[in-house]
Formats: sequence, C-alpha cells, structure tokens
Amino acid sequence: MVVDTSKPQGAMAGPRYIESLKDGREVWLDGERVSDVTTHPALTGMVHELARIYDLQHSAEFGEQMTFVSPETGNRCSLSWQLPTCADDLKHKRRNSEIWNEQSWGQLGRSPDILAPHIITLYNSREALAAVKNPHCDFGENIANYHRLCLENDLFLTHALGDPQVDRSEQPQNEQRAVLEEDIALHVVEETTEGVIVHGAKQLATAAPISNETYVSLSATFVRRADPRFVLAFSIPTNSPGLKVLCREPVSQFPGSYGHPLGALYDEQDSMLFFENVLVPWDRLFMLYEATPLLQRLGSNVNFMGWANLCRIHFRMRLMAAVATMIAEAIGVIEYREVAAKLGEMATYCEMWRHAMDGVEHGAYMTDGGLMSLGSMSGMNIFFAQTSARMVQLLREISGSGMIMQPSENDLANPDLRPYLDRYMRGKGVGVEYKSRLYRLANDLAVSSFGMRQEVYEYWHGGDPNRNRINLLRTFDQSAVTDQIKDLISRPLPH
Ligand SMILES: Cc1cc2nc3c(=O)[nH]c(=O)nc-3n(C[C@H](O)[C@H](O)[C@H](O)COP(=O)(O)OP(=O)(O)OC[C@H]3O[C@@H](n4cnc5c(N)ncnc54)[C@H](O)[C@@H]3O)c2cc1C
Repeated sequence: MVVDTSKPQGAMAGPRYIESLKDGREVWLDGERVSDVTTHPALTGMVHELARIYDLQHSAEFGEQMTFVSPETGNRCSLSWQLPTCADDLKHKRRNSEIWNEQSWGQLGRSPDILAPHIITLYNSREALAAVKNPHCDFGENIANYHRLCLENDLFLTHALGDPQVDRSEQPQNEQRAVLEEDIALHVVEETTEGVIVHGAKQLATAAPISNETYVSLSATFVRRADPRFVLAFSIPTNSPGLKVLCREPVSQFPGSYGHPLGALYDEQDSMLFFENVLVPWDRLFMLYEATPLLQRLGSNVNFMGWANLCRIHFRMRLMAAVATMIAEAIGVIEYREVAAKLGEMATYCEMWRHAMDGVEHGAYMTDGGLMSLGSMSGMNIFFAQTSARMVQLLREISGSGMIMQPSENDLANPDLRPYLDRYMRGKGVGVEYKSRLYRLANDLAVSSFGMRQEVYEYWHGGDPNRNRINLLRTFDQSAVTDQIKDLISRPLPH
C-alpha cells in the first residue's frame, strides 16, 4: 500500500508508516529479493522502532512537543517539516529533534527528522531554483509543492548524493570522464512528455529500503559536471518502476536484544540505488542541467539542517560518556586518576558541543528566502568526525577486556553456570546481570559490527572530512590577525 497523499493525515503514525512500506518496492538483501521489508528479520527491528517513535507524535506526553497545527489543513504535522520563521520556531524544532534522538539514543543518521531540513533548505532557495527556466516545469514551484506534500503526509525521506565508487581518478568536471559516467553515474537519457528518464547508480543511501522516498541530488564533491545531463535534483518514491535497492550485510541480525541492545533496533541499513531507466515526473524535478542554485546553496551559510544532526551527535556523545562512567563505577576504577581524566575528556567534548549548539542558536538570522536559519556551524561536523573516533577509543580504554568477555543471556539462564558467573563475573557492588548488560551496550557502541558501522558513518556522513577541512580553510577569515602579524614583522627590531 502506498501513502495516500490525496487525503493528507498530518504527522505519521506507526501503523500508517508500516503499511506505507508494503508498496511493491524492489529491495535486495544477500542475493534475494525481500518480499516485505516490515517483516524481514534484518529490517523489522528498525521499522517497528521507527513506528513506535512515530506514534509518540500522537501521544499525550510528546504530541505537542513534536507537532504543530498546519495552517492549511488544520492537521497536526511534524515539527521536522515546519518552515521556521522566528526564534521560537527554532526552539520548538530543537526540542522535537532532541526527542527523536533521546528516543533513538542518537543512533539514527537517517531518522525522518534528518532529511526534512534538506528539503526546507531547497525551499528556501526556491527563487534561485525558479530562475533556472525549463519549458516543462517551474523548479521553484515544484519544491514548494513538494515541501507541502511531505509536510502534510509526513513522508520519510532519505537521500542519495554520491557517484558509485568505481574510479575516482577522474573528476566529474573533467571532459574525459564523460565516457565512464555514461555507464555508471546517474544521468538523463531521455525527455518525455511525462518527465525525464534517468539511468545509472548512486552510492549510497542510508535507510532507502525503509523510507517512503529518496531525494536524489549531487554532493559538493560531485556537483561540478562537464556534462549537464549529470546535473539533476529530484525526489521519487522508493517503489518507482526500475529502481532497485541493494542492502549491505545487516548488522542487526542477532537473537534478541540482550546481546546487542542498539544493533537489534537501530540498524537503519545502507544501500546502493540502481536506476534502470526510471521515470522522474516533471513535477518532482527541482533542478536539471544547471548547477548554479545548488552551488550557491553550498556556498551560503544557510543552516536548517543543524538541529537534527547536532542533537543526534550531542546525545551520542552523552551516551558514550555516561556508559564509560557507569562501567568505571561497575568495575571500581573510577577513582584512578588516569581513568577519571579520560572520563573528564569525554565530558569536555560533550560540554564543548553543548556550547557550540547554543552558539549556533544564538547566531540565528532571517534569510532572504524569508525563513529563520540557525547560525553557522562551520567546522562542527569535522570536529565530530575526529572526536567520535576519540570517544570510542576512550570507551575501549576505560572498559578493558570486559568489553568482549561477558556471559550471554543463555549462560545467565543456565543453573550450572550461574554460580560461577555470580562469583567471577560480577562487578563492584553490582550483579553479573547488570554488569554484563551494561558492557553489552558498550560493546554495541565500540566493538560490534553495529558499533563499527556507526563509527564509519560518523567519519563520512558529513562528506570527506579532508575536503571539508580544506573548504573551511578557504573561507576562514584570518585577515585581522595576519595583518597584525605583518605589521609586527615589518616594524624595526627593538635593538
Ligand atoms: C555508513 C555510511 C552511510 C552513508 N549514508 C549516505 C546517505 O544516506 N546518502 C548519501 O548520499 N551518502 C551517504 N554516505 C556517503 C558519504 O557521503 C560518502 O562516504 C563520503 O562523501 C565519501 O565518499 P566515498 O565514500 O565515495 O569515498 P571516496 O570519495 O571514494 O573516497 C575514498 C578515499 O579517496 C580519497 N579521495 C577521493 N577523491 C579524492 C580527491 N579528488 N582528492 C583527494 N582524495 C580523494 C578520500 O579522501 C578517501 O580517502 C554514507 C557513507 C557511509 C560510510
């Protein structure tokens, strides 16, 4: 069943979300086509966990904090999709993002709250998009209509930006690469009265198998193209004919949640997208053949994406620091100077991040597009790409071998083994069950397949950190200090 967008119902609810995924989408996992993503063992945990959080949008406890009343339909809609027009809106949106991340333990890089700001950012550029003329559609109108559709139906989007990792030796802006791109990178092969036919692939899209639609565009690395057929931005339903979704090896397939409390619920999947002559209707295109508005947006300081990602990272940092602290207490090492200093280092990162978030909020401003943007967050994604790895390392160092040597649920249930576990595997003032469950959580943050996938995600999700560092350097205004230095070194020496 597809989402019935003709009767918008506002904020998504769990059952509606689950039903919306039963739409004939072509998802492949481990060589087999998945008949129903909502029941497949590798995906069902994540699907039902998202359904649970969607239901909170309708709960007495969280409903008001996660939704607002749509002026158009009167429906309560998700705050993720609200167009912020004042500082208060930003505060409400921050609280909504905090709830999404408190509920999902900061583990979802592609929660529904994450992609909504991408569409809001495009909406904010609607005049620049409209300035690019096309005989078949108005790109500015398209994005405004699409935002409305997403808002009123609370669609779950992912995005796909990069080219397949086949040959990075030639850059897409080089003419000679065109032959290779012809085969692999996504491009327009034909225009019809209904839209454009696209062919090629994207690497990669997190959560594609379990989302309603994918926003397809070009990242900063790939936006400059020699061949305009490769310049396009659009959004399409996951069940579009010709779209194949290939999942990676799951990191969720563990029996029960005891051993892997995070992996069992938050494997959001990552996937390749193969487009086999897929029709993209004219009203779903936001850009075609001309990258100027996308480049302008990349170069601007407009920041609607902030809260979703910053709140996620903040919660993930606090989770790692708290688990490390509880482990240090549980094995009686918290008083050791070296351990306490490491925990203090973790606390430092959490505090720096909190202050930075407050700074981003303080720098909020009204954009030319008429929306209230958060202030600049330049450097923050780069900072976290390096800090996350450091925090994982500190968690491992503080935890020692207990990180891997813990009894299983069945070991604990075995009466022959249990006395040994109670005696030799307990902690300081805590029983074996508490200690092993705590350590299992640490394992899912710093050791398991799930934990390692999260760590790889943290490094790459903001794009290549080295490219980002270089881009930051190029826009980092040092003129005041360099002028002062030049003045100093041009003065006569005192002697
Ligand atoms: C878990 C995970 C989830 C992701 N989810 C999404 C998603 O949902 N949507 C999405 O669009 N993307 C997603 N990504 C992709 C992510 O944005 C990319 O991984 C990132 O931009 C780097 O691109 P790449 O993986 O193709 O690496 P490559 O670009 O192939 O880089 C490989 C190596 O080559 C170097 N290199 C490459 N090109 C150059 C160059 N020109 N000059 C110098 N060095 C170079 C890089 O620094 C790196 O060391 C995800 C990635 C991961 C790991």
